[in-house]
Amino acid sequence: MSITVEEKLGVNKYFVDEGNAHIEIDPAYPDMKEKMKLVNACPAGLYKLNENETLSFDYAGCLECGTCRILCLGTVVKKWEFPEGTMGVEFRYG
Ligand code: SF4
Repeated sequence: MSITVEEKLGVNKYFVDEGNAHIEIDPAYPDMKEKMKLVNACPAGLYKLNENETLSFDYAGCLECGTCRILCLGTVVKKWEFPEGTMGVEFRYG
């Protein structure tokens, strides 16, 4: 029996810091190529392109991989930090 990526991600636990987004973006950044890098590269699929070509983003399911930081810090991504203390993702493999 094979397991999908979504099923694997679904077993992780996320401790979301509701009062402090560890990643902030400019959802209306004008360069579509920059926005599409994020839509295509985030392994958790957290960047979505809206019909009006703005981005939707929810840091709650972040895997803390740093891909969006490498690709777009200084353009679409305005802030990238690890979550504080005990917050963030807890990977569960079993
Ligand atoms: S750090 Fe990784 S998982 Fe988190 S939003 Fe950026 S690309 Fe997605």
